[in-house]
Amino acid sequence: MKNIVLFGPPGAGKGTQSAHIVEKFDLFHLSTGDIFRANIKEGTKLGMLAKEYMDCGELVPDEVTIQMLESEASRHLGQGYIFDGFPRTPAQARALDDFFQAKGEQIDAMIALQVPEPELRERLAGRAATSGRPDDANPAVIQNRIDVYNEETAPVAEHYRKQNKFRDINGVGSVEEVFGRIADVLQALGEKA
Ligand code: AMP
Repeated sequence: MKNIVLFGPPGAGKGTQSAHIVEKFDLFHLSTGDIFRANIKEGTKLGMLAKEYMDCGELVPDEVTIQMLESEASRHLGQGYIFDGFPRTPAQARALDDFFQAKGEQIDAMIALQVPEPELRERLAGRAATSGRPDDANPAVIQNRIDVYNEETAPVAEHYRKQNKFRDINGVGSVEEVFGRIADVLQALGEKA
């Protein structure tokens, strides 16, 4: 089983494609954004802390995010993960490598969805009507999420490029077309549908 990082800016389609990947390949979907939103709904301490950052489109601090991720990722080791929204900083990527190394596992590939910025803005604004996410509803927050991605998250690609694990995918097209490209990469890695 492979451990995959699905990467890309906000609005690139990571959540949508993760659902398709889980349906076709037997991987466990771990989305840090979903876990934070569940904590906000339940009113936990972690949720209250995360909300302050999420509402303005900033990243939740590494320390908090890494600790949460490690406790969640301990649960399904061996099944193969599809990480969605993590790692978002080089420090998170290093922490994930160390965590997996200690468990005798590794990240096998980062699949990066490439979508031009004007299309991202359009998709996120369109999604606001159905997602119920406050961070999709405000154009200033959308722009900040894109800026934070460019400044803090985009460098994570380099981490996996250096390990020869980086795979670029055109994220423009129908959901099925983009999924077909992802499935090709997964199958080339030896993942069975
Ligand atoms: P997402 O659902 O992936 O779009 O994430 C929504 C928000 O949750 C982000 O804008 C961040 O505020 C926070 N978040 C999710 N994943 C991470 C992460 N790996 N590191 C820091 N903050 C995160």
